[in-house]
Amino acid sequence: MADQPRIRPVIENLPTYKAGKKAAGVAGLEPYKLSSNENPTQPLPAVLKVIAQAALEINRYPDPFVTELTKALAAKFNVAENFIATGTGSVGVCQQIMQAVADPGDEVIYAWRSFEAYPIITKIVGAKPVEIPLTKTGAHDLAAMLNAVTERTRLILICTPNNPTGCVVNHLELKEFLTKVPKDILVVIDEAYVEFNRDDQSVVGLDLIKEFKNVGVLRTFSKAYGLAALRVGFFIGPENVAEAVRKTAVPFGVSNIAAEAAVASLEFEEELFERVADLVELRSWFEEQLTKLGFDLPASQANFVWLPLGDRTDEFVARCADQAISVRPFSGEGVRISIGEKPALERVLNALRGFNTL
Ligand SMILES: *Cc1c(COP(=O)(O)O)cnc(C)c1O
Repeated sequence: MADQPRIRPVIENLPTYKAGKKAAGVAGLEPYKLSSNENPTQPLPAVLKVIAQAALEINRYPDPFVTELTKALAAKFNVAENFIATGTGSVGVCQQIMQAVADPGDEVIYAWRSFEAYPIITKIVGAKPVEIPLTKTGAHDLAAMLNAVTERTRLILICTPNNPTGCVVNHLELKEFLTKVPKDILVVIDEAYVEFNRDDQSVVGLDLIKEFKNVGVLRTFSKAYGLAALRVGFFIGPENVAEAVRKTAVPFGVSNIAAEAAVASLEFEEELFERVADLVELRSWFEEQLTKLGFDLPASQANFVWLPLGDRTDEFVARCADQAISVRPFSGEGVRISIGEKPALERVLNALRGFNTL
């Protein structure tokens, strides 16, 4: 008999989520964090005011149905409220979805490399991750994903723009794919970065929801809306799935502060999206500079870029650390750099000069 409480083997063997690191201090340099795709700007004063007001009621449990936010989202996206389910960040919602659709041994298909949270939450629910390699250019291989469908498949995740490559899936190609996926398999399109997307040929998840009864989208307030610390995201999709997602929610998971800040952010969306436009412009500039330095990188439609540095990834990450910049390394593969403050990106470019030809 073991001399300590037993943990499910799948949990014991689980790597803990590697969050983007803070930049370590370097004398004389302001540190910058470009490792978590966060919005670099502080909350709007109007949103901060709502947060301060909401804080006066934190002695009470929040509205378990997240009514006001659900209403606001239904109005914004022109769908009935029962097609919406909110949760503690879109990762929280994604976990609720898996708990709702996958039994132990069932299969969850997603592209790889993609979002770090997918394998973790798939394993937590006891399901089996089926990872389909991205193409050489960092895109989803939809044909291979379709080929991987079996009797045990319960969920297919499509991440567009994809984290960490920034590539988008083409709308017509995904539509074609969806006509071939069995109708009892849920397909979730993770649109965490959709507000940064400027490719008009790419997936419009909300249109696909209307055409296919087994399709849903995941959205978040963490990136474009700048509320990462408040943990609020949502699902829009089939009624029965939305209902199941509400059942698997942690009770009172979405705080009143998060819900009210999200409603206010929708109200001040125009101002927030001006900031998004600035980041998109900065992304173009950064990509141009990287190309000039001789780097070959996929075009990003998100608030980060992917540098496929292969074996030289760690070396580059160390160079950035010397400059008080943290980026997100994937050892042996490449590095993801968030589009944050311009001085930070300039410092990254300085760290890269000469690197390509060493
Ligand atoms: C950042 C991110 C999310 C958002 O996570 P939250 O839990 O909403 O903060 C979801 N999906 C992907 C692919 C992401 O990169």
